[in-house]
Amino acid sequence: MSGQSGAGSGGRGVLENVAARVLYFHNTIDTHCLLMSALGIGALAALSAAGVVDGLDWGAMTRPAALLYAAILVAAIVLALKWCDFYPPILLAAAPVAASLPWLAGGADLILTTLAVNLTLFVVTHLALFGGPYVVIFGAWSSPVRGLWHSFFTLAPTTASFWICQLCTNVVTFAVLLRPRPDRPAGLLFLGGIACAVVVARLARPRSVLSPMFLPPTGRPIARRVLLLSVDGLSLNLMRRARTPFIDRLSREWASAPAGAVTVYRALTNPAFASMMTGAPPEVHTMRDNNLGRRIAVEGLPDYVPARIYGSIHMRHFAKPHWDVRVVPITRMGYETDEVLVQWLLDDLEDEPGLRLFVVDLSTVDMTAHAFGARTAHYTRAVEETDRRLERLFAALESRRVLADTTVILTSDHGQSCLDHSYLLNDDEKYVPLVLCGAGVRRGARLRYRPSIVDYAASIAWLLGVRYPEDVMGRVLAEAFEGAPVPGWTDDAADAAADAVAARPVAAGLGAAAPDRSEAAVTTHVPER
Ligand SMILES: [Zn+2]
Repeated sequence: MSGQSGAGSGGRGVLENVAARVLYFHNTIDTHCLLMSALGIGALAALSAAGVVDGLDWGAMTRPAALLYAAILVAAIVLALKWCDFYPPILLAAAPVAASLPWLAGGADLILTTLAVNLTLFVVTHLALFGGPYVVIFGAWSSPVRGLWHSFFTLAPTTASFWICQLCTNVVTFAVLLRPRPDRPAGLLFLGGIACAVVVARLARPRSVLSPMFLPPTGRPIARRVLLLSVDGLSLNLMRRARTPFIDRLSREWASAPAGAVTVYRALTNPAFASMMTGAPPEVHTMRDNNLGRRIAVEGLPDYVPARIYGSIHMRHFAKPHWDVRVVPITRMGYETDEVLVQWLLDDLEDEPGLRLFVVDLSTVDMTAHAFGARTAHYTRAVEETDRRLERLFAALESRRVLADTTVILTSDHGQSCLDHSYLLNDDEKYVPLVLCGAGVRRGARLRYRPSIVDYAASIAWLLGVRYPEDVMGRVLAEAFEGAPVPGWTDDAADAAADAVAARPVAAGLGAAAPDRSEAAVTTHVPER
């Protein structure tokens, strides 16, 4: 069966791909900053030619020399802002420069005109590039205006934030307007002030939190298969505002992390999934954002474990080209996407005995947060609907006795904050739920520490009895598994535990007796590439 398949094709598929790319592009501040700066400077040049402003007087400079000077300034500033990740403390650190602008520019006229131009450009591009794709994909007509409104209440350094966007485009345009000249040293003061702000923001920038390494020897399969079930954008904090009786029951009856798991920096779908598959943080696997041209630079589980990934177009964009990905076109399925994914999963669990890792990304919760905001009734409803969907899925898994030889990791890639997520600015986006159930899982276990989503790759490898990915960091969540060696155990204790696991390798399903399939769990051939 071909992996590169989808429920839809043709025009809608292309449309979704384009809409998703526009969203990534718009949502990634560095590319957006370049576009906005070019537009802003272009608008000011036009105003200058019309005699409305005189800030773009290049004096004796030839036109090519002036263009080259402007291009170098723009590139240097965008690179500097990128170096500090546009991290929000830069707003505070750049405040003294902003306050001295009238003095540096020798008057308020040029400043007011520039601010007005950049403000207008922000509103227009935000409505078109942020709201537009949501209208195209989901028919969510209120999204453009909601997005604009929310942009005043987020400091996430993406284009979802009015303040960050305005800082970036104004810094670039003012750098060009006030460019240093022998007769105007104010330009140097401006650039020096911005350089200081960039250094402050860089120092304040977080890094991914990693668990202490713990990688016990692997080799003996505990589970025939692992199902990594991610509810995209499910914040632990915001989940608690919703009624989720099924997830609550699963957490009580099986193993769970009461404080949740922590996502990576940056908390975006593609970097987070790359971390879950490679066991490495974004600094190592190099997929740092959702934008074009990113590729996972290290080995991931699907490189050597028969695996299939299910989800929206995001999954194809993060995965390596040869990984087996099934994409549901959201443009065609809308909010029905998750139903289709669940059905595909159930079919493949039955029909594809060779697959050992199933990775599923349910999209509705995340889509709803981006379209309407995370602290909204829409989001709460989407979480509750997902809880009911999971209940139906697990009922099907139970009736097919899947949990007897399959371990399920129920979690999320990142949380949500306001309309956005990505910079670990608050707990809503940092922490995600984590429940483990099925084969090999110790019922009632509570992780007394807070794992990282980076730990999942090691845990999956250990459960499947295959080697760890080459650049794996973090730990096996051993406390959640029956008979697993945990940190601090002696080798003898670990051996005894491993023998005990070999004698009784498979946990019972949800209240069901262990079925015949249990034999398969210990004898499964583990293909290594
Ligand atoms: Zn996501």
